Amino acid sequence: MTDSKRVDAIVIGSGAGGAVTAMTLAGAGMSVAVLEEGANVPRREYGKSSPEGMAQLFRRSGMTPILGRVPIGFVEGRCVGGSTEVNSGFWHRAPREVLLSWQSRFDLQGATESELVPHYEWAEQRLSVSPYPGEWPKSTKLFQRGIDAMGWAVREIPRTAPGCQSANTCASGCASGKKQGMSQGLLPEAKAAGANILSHCRVKLLLRQGRRVTGVLAEITRDNGSVELVRIDADHVFVCAGASQTPTLLRQSGLRYKVGDQLRLHPMLKLTARFPQPVNAQNSVLPLLQVNEFWPEISLGGAYFSSGHLAFLLGDNWPQLSMEMEHQNHFASYYVAVRGNGRGSVRPSALGNGDTALRYDLSVDDLRSMSRGVARLATLLLAAGAEAVYPAIRSIPVIRTELDAVRWLTELLPAKDLSLTTVHAFSSCPMGEQAGLTAANSYGRVHHVDNLYVNDASMLPDSPGVNPQGTVMALARRNALHFVDSL
Ligand SMILES: Cc1cc2nc3c(=O)[nH]c(=O)nc-3n(C[C@H](O)[C@H](O)[C@H](O)COP(=O)(O)OP(=O)(O)OC[C@H]3O[C@@H](n4cnc5c(N)ncnc54)[C@H](O)[C@@H]3O)c2cc1C
Repeated sequence: MTDSKRVDAIVIGSGAGGAVTAMTLAGAGMSVAVLEEGANVPRREYGKSSPEGMAQLFRRSGMTPILGRVPIGFVEGRCVGGSTEVNSGFWHRAPREVLLSWQSRFDLQGATESELVPHYEWAEQRLSVSPYPGEWPKSTKLFQRGIDAMGWAVREIPRTAPGCQSANTCASGCASGKKQGMSQGLLPEAKAAGANILSHCRVKLLLRQGRRVTGVLAEITRDNGSVELVRIDADHVFVCAGASQTPTLLRQSGLRYKVGDQLRLHPMLKLTARFPQPVNAQNSVLPLLQVNEFWPEISLGGAYFSSGHLAFLLGDNWPQLSMEMEHQNHFASYYVAVRGNGRGSVRPSALGNGDTALRYDLSVDDLRSMSRGVARLATLLLAAGAEAVYPAIRSIPVIRTELDAVRWLTELLPAKDLSLTTVHAFSSCPMGEQAGLTAANSYGRVHHVDNLYVNDASMLPDSPGVNPQGTVMALARRNALHFVDSL
């Protein structure tokens, strides 16, 4: 182990929560070390959807299992900038109803709609959140046609990608630099304010003395592959390692009170649709609309598309469907996401290897919402002119008619056959004054520890029902400013 170093504040993780925290603290004149497990991938290497690209930017190459009665594939970033480097950039504010319910159930203070507005506005201005600048691509226009036919409420969702060039590389890092991942603006700004950003630096343990955290033990992997264990001391520690890793680190460090007991997700199921005309979805940005007619329980929207993803989605019924790959230019992908209320947990793996064991049991409500969502999305796509719709469900290879689709409005899909994924996880260290339900107070300070904070997606008291990045950033800024003001 090398000599220890000392800073005012350590920020663990450089994603949506970590970047905002680092920038705010460094901007207030504190010495800050940002410790990021993943690589600092240069922009020239973005846009590669190769296995190497996936391994560079994602945890477990984008395939982390969430175990449960129906297993779910969890996709999250692991690089400088975290998941914001690989996400689609869709931007939402948490709806008023969600904020009110957080206040009522968790006694979350200081997070009313009007209190959060300045923080959302700050983030929206920093990331130039705006509608897609060009003409909608075909996959969006077809979606709109189906929505019009159904007469449902819809919104074009603004994105963190001003000047988007429709290169369809959101999921492998935006090669044009238009998408405002944290590596684009906020982390450089934190650096300019003096923050030291260390990549390939995985925090293994929080060091504690009584009610205080004194620093961390971290492993730094050098360019030659050698691994060095370092101790970094700090007056304050902010854990922003994401909903799966923050509770793991806390628990590994002996902090268990309400930590990792409530993992919430938006379980997703993809449907691919084959249209009579070429769509060339692989050459354009993903569909830009979301149907909010059935919110908050069900959202319907557009999914990232590539040949590899199409093969993966058809893979559930590959013997019958593999020949569809010949028509891949006629396909586009869409999703059903439900606001899950099943029970989930995060624990360090029992193997003791530092890995994480994630569990989520789909509730009956989840399954009902998913079934209705599949019925509605399939109907919409058929009404848009799709010749066939292929859900990622093993026993249902294809839906060809609207009458076949609406069956799932009243029947439940076969749970064991669903190929579910998610890119939205939160609430594994919920915050609020209801100590019996929360791991941290209303401003993210972990209960029973004086100088330890969670400031990432894990702090959301419950599922927001909409894309979470905006709310993670708004709450992270509010918490960081509250902390700075209290010094
Ligand atoms: C493919 C994809 C698409 C998405 N699309 C959208 C979208 O369109 N809109 C939206 O709002 N949201 C989207 N999301 C979700 C959104 O990006 C996340 O909710 C948000 O980034 C969470 O922020 P965070 O700070 O909690 O975690 P992250 O941004 O994931 O950052 C956590 C960071 O901590 C690091 N870390 C973890 N453990 C350690 C450790 N022990 N030591 C050091 N570092 C560690 C990780 O490597 C990671 O870089 C998407 C996510 C994905 C993966």
